[in-house]
Amino acid sequence: MTTEYLYKHPKTLLNKGTGFLAGYSHSLNPYTGCTFGCSYCYVRQMPVSTFRGAEWGTWVDIKQGAANVFQKELVRAKNKGPVTIFMSSSTDPYQPIEHKEQITRSLLEVMVSDPPDFVFVQTRSPLVRRDIDLLLRLGEKVRVSMTIETDMEDIRKYFSPDAPPIAARLKTLQLLADAGVPTQATIAPMLPSSEAFPQLLKPLVDRVCLDDYFMGDGSGGKRTRNLGIQAKYDQIGMEEWYGPSAYQIVYDRLKQVFPEDQIYVSQKGFEP
Ligand code: SF4
Repeated sequence: MTTEYLYKHPKTLLNKGTGFLAGYSHSLNPYTGCTFGCSYCYVRQMPVSTFRGAEWGTWVDIKQGAANVFQKELVRAKNKGPVTIFMSSSTDPYQPIEHKEQITRSLLEVMVSDPPDFVFVQTRSPLVRRDIDLLLRLGEKVRVSMTIETDMEDIRKYFSPDAPPIAARLKTLQLLADAGVPTQATIAPMLPSSEAFPQLLKPLVDRVCLDDYFMGDGSGGKRTRNLGIQAKYDQIGMEEWYGPSAYQIVYDRLKQVFPEDQIYVSQKGFEP
């Protein structure tokens, strides 16, 4: 699938942290749109996507000059109080085009020279490893949350064919942890996985976040229902994995491997 890229010059980058992200003072999106185009992505249902008139996953706006705008906003925000940033809420900050454009890297550079109180980097891309040098300079003021919804590559391909392979994400978590960057594995949205999944994560992280459509889509599962995701489960005979209590399957498996204080459910796992 070809991706349409447009350059934009936004006047603001920081948005107020609201709803699910109310624990943050701000959210920060280096891009608009997301080429990973996951089938379950509820951003599809939001105005940013519905007003666009093109299918979610087929377009990305690149926020050129983002660092200059952000630098000034960050100074102003810090003058008003603590600044905690969630990056990103409606895209993945490590789009494939980030390799060339380096918008996210430029924002991290700003944060290294003028650190916010905390920044949470939410991604599923191995490209985050490129920025280990900057992440290390943020010390304990950063956490990289790597989305790993399942350990089963065929399931990943079925729900999210254009996203990076699971093995590459696990490898990246390993590299980040070895370097000393604070990390977590984020099983969100929880997809069907094998019994061995927690064992796979255990050597890589001491913090796991588990979330599903019902707790985590910001609408009690309504947005996901509108996407018709249940039918995707039915098609592959995985009905038992779709429902408000299905997360217990993985939660109970995690509990056998991780201490309970290392397992965070839904919003708690995304807080600063
Ligand atoms: S990576 Fe995140 S923002 Fe991008 S399509 Fe998937 S769920 Fe949506």
